Amino acid sequence: MQPKEQLLSLQPYKPGKPVEEVKRELGLEKIIKLASNENPYGCSKLAKDKITEELSNLQVYPDGYAAEIREKLSGYLGVEQEQLIFGNGSDEVVQILCRAYLSPETNTVMAAPTFPQYRHNAVIEGAEIREVPLINGNHDLDSMIEEIDHQTKIVWLCNPNNPTGNYIPENDFVQFMKKVPSNVIVVSDEAYFEYVSANDYPNTIHYLKNYPNLVILRTFSKAHGLAALRIGYGIADRSIIKGMEPAREPFNTSRLAQAAAIGALEDEGFINECKQKNREGLELFYSFCERKDLLYYPSEANFILLDVNSDADSAFNYLLKKGYIVRSGSALGFPTMIRITIGEEEHNKEIIGHLEAYIESLVESVN
Ligand SMILES: *Cc1c(COP(=O)(O)O)cnc(C)c1O
Repeated sequence: MQPKEQLLSLQPYKPGKPVEEVKRELGLEKIIKLASNENPYGCSKLAKDKITEELSNLQVYPDGYAAEIREKLSGYLGVEQEQLIFGNGSDEVVQILCRAYLSPETNTVMAAPTFPQYRHNAVIEGAEIREVPLINGNHDLDSMIEEIDHQTKIVWLCNPNNPTGNYIPENDFVQFMKKVPSNVIVVSDEAYFEYVSANDYPNTIHYLKNYPNLVILRTFSKAHGLAALRIGYGIADRSIIKGMEPAREPFNTSRLAQAAAIGALEDEGFINECKQKNREGLELFYSFCERKDLLYYPSEANFILLDVNSDADSAFNYLLKKGYIVRSGSALGFPTMIRITIGEEEHNKEIIGHLEAYIESLVESVN
């Protein structure tokens, strides 16, 4: 049976190899996965406590409207409750946006490389994809503006960008918003929001009033450490949310996810601690790259994309044999780079040691 024609060009999402399988295949005892930008410190205890409480209600459907976390988050963010939509991960909010606003007569503009789910979901809806190459890891906002025409429905900004970690400063963001026609949705995907420390990173929530075409995406999967539970959200003008709601499944976020998110929001201390340790980890990688003269992108997220000056897959395999799973750039549009999630200090130091040995083995093989 043939699916819709536009699906023929798509591949299902390929997750990294499960840790257990790698252990068995390579006969390793310890495997550290630094490939999916998960939080190495787990999640807040408050989130776990909420989950435990909720375990007595598993026979009851979740609240599809997610009223409790909605109320909490609206107060926390200072937006109206009607300005929020929850998804089974922010991945699902991307899907709902595409389902609600894209169709074969429309086009959508995004950077390349960026987070692949924008493209993937837009292709399923039959929309035309307009990709604008990054410049030095940054969105080329001027060229993105030029791609917008009367059929453009959604423009995607990934801030900070996955896989480069670069961010769009406030001034560039505002100049961009001024130029985008008001009937074109601009999505600011802020999956790594909690990790950002740059002073000129835009507080996009402030701009929702001036720009009712702005949609902000955030998630509990990354800094909050709740990737397993799948809960993320969109923030936008209520008219956009109203347009999206019919495309949302009735019970799309689970009881456990909603409860955990409520607990997670209450624990600012946990987030601050993770952010601080992540910064220290990034600095370790920066100084390693500078010492070894390796190109890297300064990151506002919890990962670093660095150049191994050789085939990314061979670096990936080298590290795998040492017990470290990273993300090869070959599938991300950077064939000589690898993306490493910042881990615990011990693991950062250890993988840097392995990388150093790998880089030196390259030099030796040339000599
Ligand atoms: C991880 C990630 C997401 C998706 O996160 P969910 O787990 O679906 O909430 C969205 N955007 C970017 C850029 C990401 O890196």
